[in-house]
Amino acid sequence: MLKKAMPRSLPSLPPQASVMGLPVHLQSNYVDWLLSQLQQKKGVHIVTLNAEMAMQAEQDEALATVIRQAELVIPDGAGVVFYLRLRGKLVNRCPGIELAEMLLTRAASQIPQGSPELAPCPIFFYGGAPGVSEAAAVEWQRRAPGVAIVGTQNGYITPAEQPQLLQTLAELQPRIILVGLGVPRQEFWIAEHRHICPNAIWIGVGGSFDIWAGSKDRAPGWLRNNNLEWTYRLYQEPWRWRRMMALPQFALKSLTYW
Ligand code: UDP
Repeated sequence: MLKKAMPRSLPSLPPQASVMGLPVHLQSNYVDWLLSQLQQKKGVHIVTLNAEMAMQAEQDEALATVIRQAELVIPDGAGVVFYLRLRGKLVNRCPGIELAEMLLTRAASQIPQGSPELAPCPIFFYGGAPGVSEAAAVEWQRRAPGVAIVGTQNGYITPAEQPQLLQTLAELQPRIILVGLGVPRQEFWIAEHRHICPNAIWIGVGGSFDIWAGSKDRAPGWLRNNNLEWTYRLYQEPWRWRRMMALPQFALKSLTYW
């Protein structure tokens, strides 16, 4: 039951630390906090902060503003965890894909049992190449048969097709909306359109649909556990090398930005 699983009182905003002037919220259990926001019908934009995004935000004030306005910024990347540990904050990494998976699993099982007012908790997937978000939805139906994915849309629609998507969202009023358009496109898109479903949890999930659909896979556990997930991404997608130049720059910033 959801109510039993939740701590007695969850603060309305989680405490936060700073990574190069950007917030990172510190919470031992993000999912319980998110479920309490869902119950209270509070909208949430989740940003999954990693070193690449922090370096992008340093060059792009509009992106930094969107990150600062998000209700929840989680330490998605090993670099962010390293930066905070250097400053005495012992946080654990929380990859966005894992938070999304925990949230979908709880939405599929616990919310309908524990909080009938949220049942079914409608979920929408937006992003990825044509067919990918549909395949991800099929995979989720297999993993968690109670999951209520009410719609999917690929991430390559034309500007002329956008109004139809926005109207669909307005009509369906999903409570959890996963947006996988890549950084920073997904963050800007969510910030611009979240008013359409003001009570929803909106998450920028990057390439998570590709992974659920089976078109890409995550790094093996031993690489993930040793903060080396980025090496696997570079091996799978060598074109990323230019973007990944941000990583050593971020490491340097970690030592010099006080
Ligand atoms: N994508 C999309 N529309 C676009 C550009 C990208 O839907 O116009 C999708 C792409 O198919 C992929 C995801 O966005 O599924 C980006 O994944 P990536 O792992 O590159 O995300 P990031 O590293 O930026 O978080």
